[in-house]
Amino acid sequence: MSDFTFFVILLSTSAIFGTTIGAYYCTIEYRIRANLPLVTSGCICPSCGHRLALYHQIPILSFFLLKGKCHYCHAPIPFRYPLTEAAFLTYYTLTFCMLYRFPLIFISLWYLFVMIWILKNVHTKNSRNYNRLLKGLLIITAYHAVIGLLYIILYLAVYGSFFLNCLP
Ligand SMILES: [Zn+2]
Repeated sequence: MSDFTFFVILLSTSAIFGTTIGAYYCTIEYRIRANLPLVTSGCICPSCGHRLALYHQIPILSFFLLKGKCHYCHAPIPFRYPLTEAAFLTYYTLTFCMLYRFPLIFISLWYLFVMIWILKNVHTKNSRNYNRLLKGLLIITAYHAVIGLLYIILYLAVYGSFFLNCLP
């Protein structure tokens, strides 16, 4: 695999991962604010309670496809959702591009960013919400640990011993 192909594949993965984390952040923030369980079987519209189809939940894209409204009841979807997802997409891809050779550093920066973002913006009012926040942080940690491990394996497979010399 050429250096460029590898770069493009990882850039796409980083972009998808970033927007997914952004979308997940929105879920955590909403469910804690609305006093709802963090892990449920599916997403529903907060206005009409209709279960959302998978294609209604694609980060950034779905907002524009649905013209910013619920497909069923036409209740407006807050613009900060696609905005937050776009902010995560930008941060994750930029960090990746700038620190492409140093996966451990850019993955740590991703993790640090989302942790600070959550702790700064999500406020818990009771112990049940505090537990939800902890659960959310644990899930985010697990996602980053899995993607981190995957990236390290890929870097080792492609760059081998050369990559080991680049580790911080
Ligand atoms: Zn609705």
